[in-house]
Amino acid sequence: MAGQTRRVRIGNTAIGGGNPVLIQSMTNTDTADVQATLSQIERLCFAGCEAVRCAFYSKECAPAFKEIKKHMRVPLIADVHFDASLAVLAMENGADKVRVNPGNLRGESALETVVACAKACSAALRIGVNAGSLEPRLLKEYGAPTPQALAQSAAEAVRIVYDMGFYDVAVSIKASSVPVTVQACRLFSAQNEAPMHIGITEAGTYENAVVKSAVGLGALLLDGIGDTVRVSITGDPVQEVDAARRILQSAGARKFYPEVISCPTCARTQIDVTELAHRVQQILSEKQKPITAAVMGCVVNGPGEAKHADIGIAGGGNKAALFAKGTLIGTYSEKSILEVFSRYIDRHF
Ligand code: SF4
Repeated sequence: MAGQTRRVRIGNTAIGGGNPVLIQSMTNTDTADVQATLSQIERLCFAGCEAVRCAFYSKECAPAFKEIKKHMRVPLIADVHFDASLAVLAMENGADKVRVNPGNLRGESALETVVACAKACSAALRIGVNAGSLEPRLLKEYGAPTPQALAQSAAEAVRIVYDMGFYDVAVSIKASSVPVTVQACRLFSAQNEAPMHIGITEAGTYENAVVKSAVGLGALLLDGIGDTVRVSITGDPVQEVDAARRILQSAGARKFYPEVISCPTCARTQIDVTELAHRVQQILSEKQKPITAAVMGCVVNGPGEAKHADIGIAGGGNKAALFAKGTLIGTYSEKSILEVFSRYIDRHF
């Protein structure tokens, strides 16, 4: 397990130092279009996004950023490539954090300029190392963007920033390959205390992106690595928020939804598990009860498998048995079981 990372303040929140893993996403509207960007940010926040990043691609974004910032309830992050002066402009116009890539930041003193402004504006930085834009020096040394090369690039950049007396810095190391990303993050995390933003970059369209992200982020989160996450999906970014929540909950990092354990059904199934599982999920969501419920098809394995759930339903002889913490409460008709279940939840949870 990774040790605790350094706490980094980002606007009105913080990451690292034992804080809950923060969910972020990135707008895909034109940042200069304030209305469109604000409307997407509103949808992201409604879905549960806790920090929003917008591309700050030219100086034309400055007035828009200033306006967007006025309406933000969560931290506003600027995504900057190539140009230190854009990072400065973003911070001067309200960015709580700026993401810069040491591999493509032009000019000798670019990082010094960015750090000096971050100090003056009380903004945080993210050093974002990407396999597609690794420094030529490290590419030559390692022959490819290997996990070691990526981890070294991030470690060197953090050391330079720390040596400037600036510590509000997070790190991301991303590659479209899940194994490369996971290995690089593990290598970095083993030797550094900077909090990590984790994600699988260019993960693809919905299904692929969710599976790749679940595998990659899941592996890291189970190792205790990751202080903020972004699930990168081609399409509407609002989808990223729900996917991030589900990955965090599955990894045991945070709890957002009721958990419904339901069996896959087999030849022993004696009740309509699919329908009941959907209805149980719906009832718990409506009642906003973040508890664990089980829906099992038979009494052979059901109660045993479900005994760690707070409440469970198991089919048997065309009836449905209700269990709480593994103890039988009663046996009811399949028709009435949901009503009994709902009443029991109201009384006991
Ligand atoms: S709980 Fe019963 S019905 Fe469901 S898969 Fe297991 S054995 Fe089959």
